[in-house]
Amino acid sequence: MAVPKRKTSKMKGRKRRTHYKAQAPTLSICPRCKVHLRPHTACPNCGYYRGRQVITLLSKEEKKKAQDEAKASGKE
Ligand SMILES: [Zn+2]
Repeated sequence: MAVPKRKTSKMKGRKRRTHYKAQAPTLSICPRCKVHLRPHTACPNCGYYRGRQVITLLSKEEKKKAQDEAKASGKE
Protein backbone atom coordinates (compact mmCIF):
# COMPACT_ATOMS: atom_id res chain seq x y z
CA MET A 1 0.00 0.00 0.00
CA ALA A 2 1.26 3.45 -0.87
CA VAL A 3 2.13 5.48 2.20
CA PRO A 4 3.02 9.21 2.32
CA LYS A 5 6.75 9.70 2.75
CA ARG A 6 6.39 12.86 4.83
CA LYS A 7 3.84 14.34 7.15
CA THR A 8 1.79 17.08 5.44
CA SER A 9 2.88 20.28 7.20
CA LYS A 10 0.31 22.65 8.73
CA MET A 11 1.06 25.22 6.02
CA LYS A 12 0.74 22.74 3.16
CA GLY A 13 -2.60 21.40 4.39
CA ARG A 14 -3.96 24.85 5.17
CA LYS A 15 -2.88 26.22 1.79
CA ARG A 16 -4.66 23.33 0.05
CA ARG A 17 -7.79 23.97 2.08
CA THR A 18 -7.94 27.66 1.09
CA HIS A 19 -9.69 26.40 -2.06
CA TYR A 20 -12.48 24.67 -0.11
CA LYS A 21 -15.38 27.10 -0.32
CA ALA A 22 -19.08 26.97 0.30
CA GLN A 23 -20.99 27.37 -2.94
CA ALA A 24 -24.05 29.52 -3.27
CA PRO A 25 -27.09 27.30 -3.92
CA THR A 26 -28.54 27.28 -7.43
CA LEU A 27 -31.82 29.15 -7.46
CA SER A 28 -34.60 29.30 -10.00
CA ILE A 29 -37.68 31.51 -9.95
CA CYS A 30 -41.23 30.33 -9.34
CA PRO A 31 -43.16 31.05 -12.57
CA ARG A 32 -46.31 31.69 -10.54
CA CYS A 33 -45.25 33.99 -7.69
CA LYS A 34 -41.68 34.94 -8.82
CA VAL A 35 -40.06 33.85 -5.57
CA HIS A 36 -36.57 32.25 -5.58
CA LEU A 37 -36.49 28.50 -4.93
CA ARG A 38 -34.28 25.44 -5.40
CA PRO A 39 -34.83 23.74 -8.77
CA HIS A 40 -37.05 20.62 -8.90
CA THR A 41 -38.90 21.55 -5.71
CA ALA A 42 -42.46 22.58 -5.02
CA CYS A 43 -42.69 26.31 -4.31
CA PRO A 44 -42.77 26.89 -0.53
CA ASN A 45 -44.62 30.15 -1.10
CA CYS A 46 -47.54 29.06 -3.29
CA GLY A 47 -47.29 25.23 -3.20
CA TYR A 48 -47.20 24.87 -6.99
CA TYR A 49 -44.99 22.57 -9.04
CA ARG A 50 -45.13 22.27 -12.85
CA GLY A 51 -48.26 24.36 -13.06
CA ARG A 52 -50.38 22.58 -10.48
CA GLN A 53 -50.88 22.74 -6.71
CA VAL A 54 -49.00 19.85 -5.11
CA ILE A 55 -48.92 20.92 -1.44
CA THR A 56 -51.59 22.63 0.60
CA LEU A 57 -50.20 25.60 2.47
CA LEU A 58 -51.60 26.77 5.77
CA SER A 59 -52.12 30.42 6.63
CA LYS A 60 -50.42 31.83 9.75
CA GLU A 61 -53.53 31.28 11.87
CA GLU A 62 -53.98 27.72 10.60
CA LYS A 63 -50.33 26.94 11.34
CA LYS A 64 -50.69 28.24 14.90
CA LYS A 65 -53.85 26.22 15.39
CA ALA A 66 -52.16 23.04 14.13
CA GLN A 67 -49.18 23.68 16.43
CA ASP A 68 -51.42 24.20 19.45
CA GLU A 69 -53.31 21.00 18.66
CA ALA A 70 -50.04 19.06 18.33
CA LYS A 71 -48.86 20.46 21.68
CA ALA A 72 -52.15 19.58 23.37
CA SER A 73 -52.14 16.02 22.02
CA GLY A 74 -48.49 15.60 23.01
CA LYS A 75 -49.16 16.50 26.67
CA GLU A 76 -52.03 14.05 27.08
ZN1 LIG B 1 -44.62 30.05 -6.09
